[in-house]
Amino acid sequence: MSDPTQKQAGLLLDEPLIFERSRPGRAGVSYPNSDKDPELILPAELLREPIAGFPEVSEPEVLRHFLRLSQWNYGTATTFYPLGSCTMKYNPVVNEVVARLDGFAGLHPLSPDDGAQGALEVILAVERILAEITGMDAVSLQPAAGAQGELTGMKMIRAYHVDRGDARRKVLIPASAHGTNPASAALCGYGTVQIEGNRIGLIEVDAVRRAMNREVAALMITNPNTLGLFEREIMQVAAVVHEQGGLVYLDGANLNALMGVAKPAHMGADVMQINLHKTFSTPHGGGGPGSGPVAVDALLEPYLPTPRVRRDANGLHWSSDFPKSIGRVRSFFGNFGMHVRALAYMLALGGDGLTQATQMAVLSANYIRRRLEGAYHLAFPATCMHECVFSDKGFEANGIKTLDIAKRLLDFGFYAPTIYFPLVVPGALMIEPTETESKETLDQFIAAMLEIAREAREEPDTLHQAPTHTPVGRLDEARAARRPVLRWQPVSPT
Ligand SMILES: *Cc1c(COP(=O)(O)O)cnc(C)c1O
Repeated sequence: MSDPTQKQAGLLLDEPLIFERSRPGRAGVSYPNSDKDPELILPAELLREPIAGFPEVSEPEVLRHFLRLSQWNYGTATTFYPLGSCTMKYNPVVNEVVARLDGFAGLHPLSPDDGAQGALEVILAVERILAEITGMDAVSLQPAAGAQGELTGMKMIRAYHVDRGDARRKVLIPASAHGTNPASAALCGYGTVQIEGNRIGLIEVDAVRRAMNREVAALMITNPNTLGLFEREIMQVAAVVHEQGGLVYLDGANLNALMGVAKPAHMGADVMQINLHKTFSTPHGGGGPGSGPVAVDALLEPYLPTPRVRRDANGLHWSSDFPKSIGRVRSFFGNFGMHVRALAYMLALGGDGLTQATQMAVLSANYIRRRLEGAYHLAFPATCMHECVFSDKGFEANGIKTLDIAKRLLDFGFYAPTIYFPLVVPGALMIEPTETESKETLDQFIAAMLEIAREAREEPDTLHQAPTHTPVGRLDEARAARRPVLRWQPVSPT
């Protein structure tokens, strides 16, 4: 690939701050004679006092300024976003149109049930479809993120054991797990026991058998795991946990690799969370307005959060009449817009379409794996599911690290993959293409990765200096996160 800067010609990458664009007397609008007497245009009581330091710019300058800034933002609407484990699939615009319908967007959270029948139908429909996809018996849409779904699931597991007079103290968690798993278990008062994977990163039934006893409340397992590999012994593993009275929590964040093909309930899961912002194409919510529904089997259904939607002769209504419930985990249903978007996606694709999405996601990941495995070290040489994990192994001689590769990708116009996760792979580079990218886009990405591998061997300094074609160069990331400069200070006139 030739110099990537060439491809960026025309995109201004040195946009100043709007304050710096300001020139005294410049304005976005002008009316006849307004410079002479503003009151000729507007009555005095509607005129604002001048704001000190307010930028004075023309209309095209304002428009271009913000449009340019918006184009510097990476997102699935602008570019390929191979962020492993996060499933950054494209969010169809029709979902947005549906979520903005007046009846949904304008509905007050305290509306009486009989004024919100349509919304309650949406909630019930999403619950029913998620139950079908996962094979579980009941679903709650209350949690606002995957991590909160985990916490909700673990609280239900705790309530179940306490109810039986056998509280238990520990939770088993594979070494490759997402960091939120041990955090969720710890928040419910459990100690965690780590289970090491085998030579190719998978959990074996013998390792679980050795760790399992009547002190263990549950196993939290991710399938496919965070290396993108299917846990082949999951059914035997679940049986060992169940034999000793434990429950199986399945981290369902990677449902994009299973949907329509395999059901977690058939693998022995008792409870799982589903990240609508990953598998069902709703926007990633920054921890707030996302949605991480929990699905449970009949054993745990009595403990689901309340209120729940029920149907009687008068239609749908919220009910809190579930004495064993763990109660509310979230105020109101502020993430309702996510449920509307997810339902739009489910109905637009249909059962066959959802299955095909899974197949395409797995195919795309394996295509990338095969094309790159000659140039990059593959962490575990096995067929992957929806994501593949490489590392920086083999580039040591030139001092090239995963961070250098990730930074250089930005110069080629691609968002970087997930790096240094999962922790079990030193220098991990985790790529998840999703099903929404064309073969041409995947080929462009592969070409960039191959070119970077060549640079790593032949001109390592190019990588050490990257990125060089972005608005800012390489940041001190720890400082940028801890001490962000969020406010522009004018240079005081001397
Ligand atoms: C994303 C993810 C989570 C956490 O989900 P959030 O919605 O980000 O809170 C948990 N486990 C796995 C495996 C994930 O990929």
